[in-house]
Amino acid sequence: MQILQEKICQYGQIIDNRVIKVDSFLNHQLDIDLFQEIGKEFKQRFKNKKITKILTIESSGIAIACITAQYFSVPVVFAKKHEAENLDLHTYQADVYSFTKNKFYKVRVAKEYLHSEDKVLLIDDFLAHGQAVNGLLEIAEQAGAEVVGVGIVIEKGFQKGRTRLKKPGLQIESLAIVEAIKDGQIIFK
Ligand code: 5GP
Repeated sequence: MQILQEKICQYGQIIDNRVIKVDSFLNHQLDIDLFQEIGKEFKQRFKNKKITKILTIESSGIAIACITAQYFSVPVVFAKKHEAENLDLHTYQADVYSFTKNKFYKVRVAKEYLHSEDKVLLIDDFLAHGQAVNGLLEIAEQAGAEVVGVGIVIEKGFQKGRTRLKKPGLQIESLAIVEAIKDGQIIFK
């Protein structure tokens, strides 16, 4: 997606040659015109799939998932990272390791919002090592829901998350794939 690549090149900041900081349009300040284009693009790429729900992860995935959901006219469910007393008894749960924060955290979805009849599109901002998406796959599996695809805004191809996903053969659509970062320069696939 050309417009996304241009934004990444113009505003992305590289940390330690592996983390791409995109706070100015994706992770802190949100560029809603760009988000609309992202939503449209996901709709186009998954137009042949029957989707009943979009599942994402707190917090950066939520905004993208919401705008995307407008094009599919389906609800968004987000996996919570923070414990809530009234949520804990009836939840699907998965452990996710964060390489950016260097720690494990638990994600939870209340059982009432994900069912075995659901056909789920997973959405997230980044695909790096595949931990977050694998956590969502695990939650969907516990619910007996079918995951029909994964939509990612920025994939860091050099961190191999795509090959580590627990469900082989899944349609994975990344709108920008970073093949390498060399001397602070981003190289797209
Ligand atoms: P994974 O679980 O695939 O290793 O990493 C994906 C998750 O970590 C995403 O949900 C995203 O929030 C965060 N993440 C991984 N790499 C980056 C990065 O380079 N930049 C930003 N902003 N977030 C990242």
